[in-house]
Amino acid sequence: MPGSPRASAGLPAVDNERIARVFEEIADLLELEVANPFRIRAYRNAARSVRGAESSLAALVLAGEPLPKLPGIGEDLAEKIQVISRTGTCPLLERLHGEVPAGQTELLHLPSIGPKRVRLLHQELGIDSLQDLQAALGNGRLARLHGFGPRLLTQLATALKARSASERRHLQPDARAQAEPLLRFVRGLEGVTDAQVAGSLRRRRDTIGDLDIVLCAEDASRVMATVLDYPPISEVMASGETRSSVRLDSGLQVDFRIVGRQSFGAALQYFTGSKAHGIALRRRARERGCKLNEYGLFRGDERLAGETEEGVYRALGLPWIVPELREDSGEIDAAERGALPHLVELRDLRGDLHCHTRDSDGSNSLRDMALAAQRLGWEYLAITDHSQHLNIAHGMDAERLARQLDEIDRVNEELDGLTLLKGCEVDILADGSLDLPDSLLERLDIVVGAVHGYFRLSAAQHTRRILRAMDSPWFTVLAHPTGRLLLERDAFAVDMRAVIRHARQRGCFLELNAQPQRLDLDEHYCRLAKEEGVLVSIASDAHRVFDFALLDYGVGQARRGWLERGDVLNTRSLAQLRSLLQRSR
Ligand SMILES: [Zn+2]
Ligand SMILES: [Zn+2]
Repeated sequence: MPGSPRASAGLPAVDNERIARVFEEIADLLELEVANPFRIRAYRNAARSVRGAESSLAALVLAGEPLPKLPGIGEDLAEKIQVISRTGTCPLLERLHGEVPAGQTELLHLPSIGPKRVRLLHQELGIDSLQDLQAALGNGRLARLHGFGPRLLTQLATALKARSASERRHLQPDARAQAEPLLRFVRGLEGVTDAQVAGSLRRRRDTIGDLDIVLCAEDASRVMATVLDYPPISEVMASGETRSSVRLDSGLQVDFRIVGRQSFGAALQYFTGSKAHGIALRRRARERGCKLNEYGLFRGDERLAGETEEGVYRALGLPWIVPELREDSGEIDAAERGALPHLVELRDLRGDLHCHTRDSDGSNSLRDMALAAQRLGWEYLAITDHSQHLNIAHGMDAERLARQLDEIDRVNEELDGLTLLKGCEVDILADGSLDLPDSLLERLDIVVGAVHGYFRLSAAQHTRRILRAMDSPWFTVLAHPTGRLLLERDAFAVDMRAVIRHARQRGCFLELNAQPQRLDLDEHYCRLAKEEGVLVSIASDAHRVFDFALLDYGVGQARRGWLERGDVLNTRSLAQLRSLLQRSR
């Protein structure tokens, strides 16, 4: 494929959303300090403006190109965008963090809690931290505070619970954005001949606890001293000659291990995990009269392997197993039988079946999305803007959708190589009916059905709702099937086995939404879909041109779910895809 998404769009470490959040946080902190309201508003407007930008501002800054003219962004703010693009933060934010108690900043990150409520909590109840808030929730004092009704209290209790569970976890882009400069730094150090990320990031888990970095160097103690000079390290929690644990400014924990060349593969294997996979491998080593640890595979004093991972697996009678599969969920058995799956790769994708344009809540025009897809060498792109029910996303009514279909016809005439498919992300209403009339749905090539509300139905109600939606003859793909938002909202209750079986009977498909905060389907349901023979659409749900690069995260998740090229809907040619979509009708 000429130019994979990864190669052409790249994943800038800092995206527009991050820049916007820095501005929002500045505004919140200024408001806590009761700063000049005009100044506060300027940062809020800047956040909105950055979110609406069509291109990645950080990518422009890093490429040395000028920033586009954005409403409300003058010289001073443009300067700040430059700094944030390079560093992920800016001096003003850091200064404010120093001035406002850390606990109050944490309170600000809770849902429905803005600066006014943080001040109220402080003034009325002396609450300055999450712990204070938890205590006040527990003893009923919070319930007596003006404006803190039962609904808000429930919301806060849920958020506090989710926070303590996910406190030390990070989304993949966040972890990757910190791993990449760190790797560059350690690889540049004298005496380091190799350095790799291990742990859950290498296994491409949906969320990452801490970073594990394995370094290859012969003079460990001298190298470790220079590793600890990495500027973003804010705290060294433990430090030895060959192992250290540190915390970065961002709060992310990093564990470094340094081993010699003879042990590098064994250490990489050991620290990549998962724990269960490691235990199974060590058991296998013992059964063969050997011992496996982070230094190598040994029989007595003799080192049988250790320099490369391949060598370690080979010495245990196995082919190399890709990190995504290392969960002790059948991969060792499959490796033994020579039956490891040939996992799907990014370059296998021939198009994308879920994206948005400016017509609903996307940032780019339909034509720009099409041209970007064409540059990626794809055969097709389905335009799936929101339907009317989703007001906040500027969902389309029948009339506007009909106009968009005409525009797709026009753009298709100009395009070479790429075909735009007519689609819509149609809301599945509470009763399972679809949010647009059949007369319009039948004109579409693809109907991506999605649940965007009424998350609190029971499992039985949700299952019924989704099965009923699938029964529409026009329904083709179930978008983000469980509605989870990682680190924020759990999947809603639903019988996914019944949903997957129904999809098989109906001949429709499930989506694996590649947005790093969704990665929905999870790996278990991917495997279940595969077992049931239901094809999965790996979809970017792009809201701007450079979101197509997010497909990489979806592919990582699909690989964790054992999906091969043949299990994925959008690896099909346009002709094959059309007949599959037809058959679901
Ligand atoms: Zn959606
Ligand atoms: Zn969408």
